[in-house]
Amino acid sequence: MASYDVIIIGGGPGGYVCAIRCAQLGLKTAVVEGRDSLGGTCLNVGCIPSKALLHASHSLHEAQHNFAAMGLKGKAPSVDWKQMLAYKDDVIAQNTKGVEFLFKKNKIDWIRGWGSIPEPGKVKVGDDIHEARNIVIATGSESATLPGVEVDEKIIVTSTGALELGKIPKKMVVIGAGVIGLELGSVYNRLGTEVTVIEFLDHITPGMDGEVQKTLQRILKKQGLKFVLGAAVQKADVTRTRAKVTYTLRKDDSEHEIEADCVLVATGRRPFTEGLELEAIGVEKTPRGQVKVGKGWQTSVPGIYAIGDVIEGPMLAHKAEDEGMAVAEQIAGRHGHVNYGIIPGVIYTTPEVAAVGETEQSLKEQGRAYKVGKFMFMGNGRARANFAAEGFVKILADKETDRILGAQIIGPAAGEMIHELCVAMEFGAAAEDVALTCHAHPTYSEAVREAALACGDGPIHS
Ligand code: FAD
Repeated sequence: MASYDVIIIGGGPGGYVCAIRCAQLGLKTAVVEGRDSLGGTCLNVGCIPSKALLHASHSLHEAQHNFAAMGLKGKAPSVDWKQMLAYKDDVIAQNTKGVEFLFKKNKIDWIRGWGSIPEPGKVKVGDDIHEARNIVIATGSESATLPGVEVDEKIIVTSTGALELGKIPKKMVVIGAGVIGLELGSVYNRLGTEVTVIEFLDHITPGMDGEVQKTLQRILKKQGLKFVLGAAVQKADVTRTRAKVTYTLRKDDSEHEIEADCVLVATGRRPFTEGLELEAIGVEKTPRGQVKVGKGWQTSVPGIYAIGDVIEGPMLAHKAEDEGMAVAEQIAGRHGHVNYGIIPGVIYTTPEVAAVGETEQSLKEQGRAYKVGKFMFMGNGRARANFAAEGFVKILADKETDRILGAQIIGPAAGEMIHELCVAMEFGAAAEDVALTCHAHPTYSEAVREAALACGDGPIHS
């Protein structure tokens, strides 16, 4: 039986980052992970493989649509699906091996297997019981299911199956117009699949700014994605090679059917706590199945903490990482901090969408006086040169103080540019501070400055 200062259950971005910070702070640390590789959902079946396929399919799209206009002529590339999947798997391996290397470097033990907590201070893996002064639950999440739609990971798939399909489908139905559905829908659309997205709500990307939702839907539609909104999926019937999805339109209750050779269920994710035996030791959960935490990410049982997708908040890798670092600081007797008001969210479609802080809708709900500074990428020289002039930057600032309250970007490299505004918000900056900051020309980031100028006397290039 080994004894540790900290045992973390789950080696995803929450767990592995927490482990590295614990080790850096001098704590004897182990991570229990049941998968064959470290990195969790994010590195194995989430963020990283999806971005690899988005990159590959985007490159194809560029070659097919924009190369000739730039004078790059010749045969457009064709798709070798096996090789594309091999490239994706290689990217996964490089990343997961990288985490293994960091564990060795920081002298973190990887206890292989599935863990449970038989009593506070103890973690059981197989027949072994390990002692720990502190236990961190970082067991993440799994794909949510839908009644009447049985996942087989072949014809009816979750995001995990969609990242390793045997062949590129001719027709795909995506259930759910959230981030994962739109990203993977975009991948297959660019590879030639006819993609129809069915969404229960009347708009895509729930929680996003309304103007961004409409703009993104319009652009994706232009790219070939079809949308059925306000539709409740009833069931999916599977034959040997195809599926038939039945849905009713909420406006008139009319029933419709659509056939496809692949159905992606992308209706969200739910916290994963199976096998931990939390009920037996009294770790409380929310009605939605998340592990309940209080101050300092403490659960209802002293000495047991929880972070990442398994607790409340946005299910994002960087949110899990931030909590991982913060809880390590807490355990080491220091101060751990996460600013939940400034967690960016990014959709890696083309164009990308990125948002942070308040939206116009949330400010209206709060009855808060605000002003909007908006700048279209059409007025940005770099974006025009790169066939990327669709979309805009929108900055929301307090009407009186000019303090930045939130921002949305739909456009090229939005996921990179949003951080300028995150940093500005962390420093409590006014829109004028961003407007007075010299931005290099020609960059997409100039659009951020122009939007900040639009909060004051007005942008230059519109
Ligand atoms: P996880 O990454 O889920 O890791 C939990 C780990 O715990 C798993 O490896 C699991 O095997 C292990 N585990 C569970 N129970 C036990 C047990 N009892 N014993 C031992 N091990 C156990 N987020 C972003 O921020 N950006 C993105 O672009 C993005 N893209 C995504 C794309 C897809 C297709 C998906 C599915 C998700 C995406 N996410 C993205 C979400 C992101 O992957 C998660 O928010 C993130 O992985 C959560 O980290 P975590 O550490 O909380 O949990």
